[in-house]
Amino acid sequence: MPIIYADIAFPTAVRQVFTYETRDESIKPGMRVWVPLRKEFAIGMVVNVHDKKPDFKTRPVERILDRDPIMSATMLQLTEWIHRFYYCSWGEAIQAALPVGLNFSSEKILRVKKGFKGDPGKDDLEMLSDIEQNRYTQKDAEKRWREGEGRKRLKKLMKKGWVTVWEEPRQRVDYKKVKHWAIPDTVDTDQIISNLSESERGNKWVQAFLQLTEMDLPLPHRELLDEGLFTAYTLKRIEKEGWIKSVDLPVKGPEEYKGIHQPELIKTLSDQQQDAFEQIESVLEAREFKSFLLFGVTGSGKTEVYIHALKYALEQGRGGLVLVPEIALTPQTVQRFFQIFGDQIAVLHSRMSERERFEAWKSLRSGEKRIAIGPRSAVFAPVQDVGLIVVDEEHDTSYKQYDPAPRYNARDVAVMRAHMEGAVAILGSATPGMVSVKAVKEEKHDLLHLPLRPTGSMPEVQILNMIEYKSAMRGPLTVELHQEIEKCLERGEQAILLFNRRGYASYLQCEDCGHIPQSPESSTSLTYHKKKNILLCHYSGYSRRADTRCELCGSENLKSKGSGTQQVEEEIAGLFPDARLLRMDRDTTSGKHGHQKIYQTFLSGEADILIGTQIVAKGLDFPNVTIVGVINADTELAFPSFRSGERMYQLLSQVAGRAGRAEKPGVVYVQTWKPEHLAIKCAKTHDFKAFARREMAEREMLMFPPFSRLVVFQFKSPSWSSVQLIAEKFCDAIRLVIGDEPVSGPSPSVIEWMNGQYRWEANIKLSRNFNGHNIERILDGIFDQYDNMKPKGASKVRINVDVDAVE
Ligand code: ADP
Ligand code: ZN
Repeated sequence: MPIIYADIAFPTAVRQVFTYETRDESIKPGMRVWVPLRKEFAIGMVVNVHDKKPDFKTRPVERILDRDPIMSATMLQLTEWIHRFYYCSWGEAIQAALPVGLNFSSEKILRVKKGFKGDPGKDDLEMLSDIEQNRYTQKDAEKRWREGEGRKRLKKLMKKGWVTVWEEPRQRVDYKKVKHWAIPDTVDTDQIISNLSESERGNKWVQAFLQLTEMDLPLPHRELLDEGLFTAYTLKRIEKEGWIKSVDLPVKGPEEYKGIHQPELIKTLSDQQQDAFEQIESVLEAREFKSFLLFGVTGSGKTEVYIHALKYALEQGRGGLVLVPEIALTPQTVQRFFQIFGDQIAVLHSRMSERERFEAWKSLRSGEKRIAIGPRSAVFAPVQDVGLIVVDEEHDTSYKQYDPAPRYNARDVAVMRAHMEGAVAILGSATPGMVSVKAVKEEKHDLLHLPLRPTGSMPEVQILNMIEYKSAMRGPLTVELHQEIEKCLERGEQAILLFNRRGYASYLQCEDCGHIPQSPESSTSLTYHKKKNILLCHYSGYSRRADTRCELCGSENLKSKGSGTQQVEEEIAGLFPDARLLRMDRDTTSGKHGHQKIYQTFLSGEADILIGTQIVAKGLDFPNVTIVGVINADTELAFPSFRSGERMYQLLSQVAGRAGRAEKPGVVYVQTWKPEHLAIKCAKTHDFKAFARREMAEREMLMFPPFSRLVVFQFKSPSWSSVQLIAEKFCDAIRLVIGDEPVSGPSPSVIEWMNGQYRWEANIKLSRNFNGHNIERILDGIFDQYDNMKPKGASKVRINVDVDAVE
């Protein structure tokens, strides 16, 4: 039998694939294998099979782990594209595309060495046979023989070499288990109840038990507490009686996102929706690739267009993929899809257990489910015969993965996947990112426009100039906003207050005119580094001593700002003592139902004011909200990014989308020091086009994306001196390869010190037209150059590459 060569990718940072040999003809690309790697064994993915004998000695494939390929040819091709374009290893891209349990995880197993030499005693033999029969992982064994004699004996057996540790592929996925309460089979509840005396029945915990007997146990501990019916103490007390017991059971599926399946509730499209749909339909019909930008204000009915297009794709016998920024923040959208498509949908989200994810993956791979809906990583869902890929809120930064590699943007991967599958991609947004705006100009995307809301009107946006209100503030609120909220509450309506938290970057702001020093080189805000008392531009490396006087008004009243918005909520509570306040931010929504619950509470009118960070602006529909206040709009503009204007516009238009969705007209109040800022002026008039035109002109002048491709290099090390040295050396290498012009830096990162690491960065601007091959070639060139000149100790510094960085 001839020798077959297999190129194998591993999930390490090393970008090469390695060639192995085998005589097993069943080997195919897309299968995992168990192979020797350096001194150990590892799982790798076969990416290519061929008969070209390499000019080095190849090692054999130890074992093929899959009977059929678990990755399709298209997914291999897609991950290869990611490998080149985002400059990661192919294995890292593959790992991101596979669910845990099917990727590269392995575990250490104890094995009894065959034919070992020596003379074990009786107790030793007992343990050896136990190990032989039970296939313990090292972890399990160490747990089982945690102390005393057992622990000593296990150590001895390993030291003698009778027991060895083997790394093996991990082939099973665990159900994530949580604590449930159940009534033991041996407990006769009827009898207990009939034996209760009157006085016993008066006990709180006995009443709680009676309540439990009416419920459908087992139920999760957390759920019982969350419902507010029971306390941990009560449950413990009942357990002590032996009437209930705790059991660890797998968590249930994502029921919470399911609604009732009512496909007849599909809406008849309005004329403008129908127009958009028909353009999509004709491409679907031809089974060709095309990407559309569906540009429509919030509430203009984009979701309905997705639904009709998806329905058409399903009727063609094809499948669909719907990406949303974050499942927990878009429950209404997900429910709407459920309503129409029911069980054909597999929801993928970050709070699922490994097992649930694995099951969802399998159901798509087998074709049992035909639609996947989920955040970023769902772009890799193994939907069969994809006809349509939707990226809702395409501008959302959560589509970009930052750590770990691959640092991909799911929106762009989605378009590439659609291209490879001959599918239609729809990118939807009320505020498209500049990248997509440019792609429309270049006729890469076709534009579909929904300018009107079928229901309700666009809310009025009022700008409150902080300079005018300087001496008329009520805590964090201008007098005007304060009064308007009072009136709103008197009318029995609700208000949302948003304070922007862009946490970590600190900056200097004039207390008299609101001015924030800008970089003369990149027009972004300068970051304030308190320790060294300098202002720093993190794109160009420009820096200067911190000003002592405001450049604009000469005031000496400069203050360092950044975080510390905690007390805002308390101040507001103090301003409206009779109002019921509800808070929504990352802290309050961390639980599984956190977000849902706050949403329900506010929707049902149990609170008057919802206050929170940016996330209150996302995807929610509250008909009784007539006022939205943005307390500190400028925090976004102060963020040192060339995208801060774009983000400001997106944020304002998103909050505006929260008000006046029903019959009642809504007003959005924006408190700002910069009423003349382009993003704020255009948000006031809902004029995205005017904003985009001017924003694009500015980007073009400074050659920022989308007029270039920004590649950021980040250098990390616990040692400050090495991180700076390496960053500088690396930049020397870059300049030798691509010249001086497109290189900026190095300079300290916006957050210079984090998790015990110093961080520096540098960036280069590459041509927008570069594809994966160009990018790979240039970056290979830079790294080769750097390898030739890197100083000692270079290995102490990690260098991350982030192509199309989004900060
Ligand atoms: P978007 O996704 O653009 O924010 P949605 O698709 O959620 O907008 O639509 C906003 C609201 O308008 C929803 O309540 C939706 O049910 C309603 N709607 C959209 N299209 C129609 C239609 N053709 N007929 C009736 N109501 C519609
Ligand atoms: Zn000033």
